[in-house]
Parts: sequence; structure tokens; C-alpha cells
Amino acid sequence: MFIDVSEIRKAPGQSFHYDFSENVGPVEIGNEELRFDNDVNISVDIKNTGKVLVFNGSIEGDTVLTCSRCLEAYPYHLNTNFEEKFVHASDIHAAQEEGQNTDEMQVFEGNRIELDDIISESIILTIPMKLLCSEDCKGLCPGCGINLNTNECDCQTDEIDPRLGVLKKFFER
Ligand SMILES: [Zn+2]
Ligand SMILES: [Zn+2]
Repeated sequence: MFIDVSEIRKAPGQSFHYDFSENVGPVEIGNEELRFDNDVNISVDIKNTGKVLVFNGSIEGDTVLTCSRCLEAYPYHLNTNFEEKFVHASDIHAAQEEGQNTDEMQVFEGNRIELDDIISESIILTIPMKLLCSEDCKGLCPGCGINLNTNECDCQTDEIDPRLGVLKKFFER
């Protein structure tokens, strides 16, 4: 998706607001593909500070993650923000003369600003490093592989805690 900034560029000092409902993704995270079955809501405030356009955006949508412990899919509500500065190629010099650090800005040409990469990056940054369906997910049984959140198995009762195993040996002497 892109925003046509031709009007914004003619209005120094002013702010503009945009709302989108977009079909986003899939977004690649490592080996996983994040999918959004429904549209993602994206809002962007753009302020023309003179030579630089400052974007403040928010992204909200629903996706599905895979729990790293029990390997089950679980719903995840995504809600994140981004800030990004854009400078037109022809304004770089003028912005630098104003004392602005253009190295930290995205440079664009023409009047279209693409947002796809920014949206994907913001989504990737907001996904937790450790994916858990719940903090106390019991995971899979190391013995039989059954999902211990929804099932019970006999493995655990048969398995001897290694610390108890030492005691057992002690008494067997
Ligand atoms: Zn889980
Ligand atoms: Zn088991």
C-alpha cells in the first residue's frame, strides 16, 4: 500500500490523518509465515515539518501463532505503532542545512510513499520472541508426545525423577 503525499508536501506545518483497512501479508518471520485472515487496520498521522514528513502509525489486526511448547496454533491480537521520517530526494540538502540528520530518514522520490516494508517490519518487531499459547502451557509429554494441556498420559507416573533415582539406589544397597 502507498500514500500519495503530493498535497501534504504543499502544506508545511500541517498534519494529515489516514485510515486503511488492508489485506496484509503473509509476513515472513524466520521459517514461519504470519497470515491475516481479516483486514488489518492501519492508521497514519503524517506531519509536514517543513522538509521532512513524520509518520506516526498504528497497526491492529488478528493473526495466528504456533506455540513453541505444545505446537498448537493460537490466536494473537496484534497492536503496534511505528514512527518513520521521510525526506524527498530533492529536499535532503535543505533538511541537512536545517540541522536534521537525514541518515535516519527514508528517502523517497515522486509523490508516493510505500508503506508495505514499514508495516511488515513493525509486525515482525512486535511478535514475541518466545511463542507461548499461555504462560503456563504444559507442552508435550517428552515420553509419548501427547498434548498435556488437553490430555493426560501415564508416562509421568512411571518416570522416576532423577533425584529420586539416586535415593532409590541408596535404599537398594
Ligand atoms: Zn502451548
Ligand atoms: Zn506421555
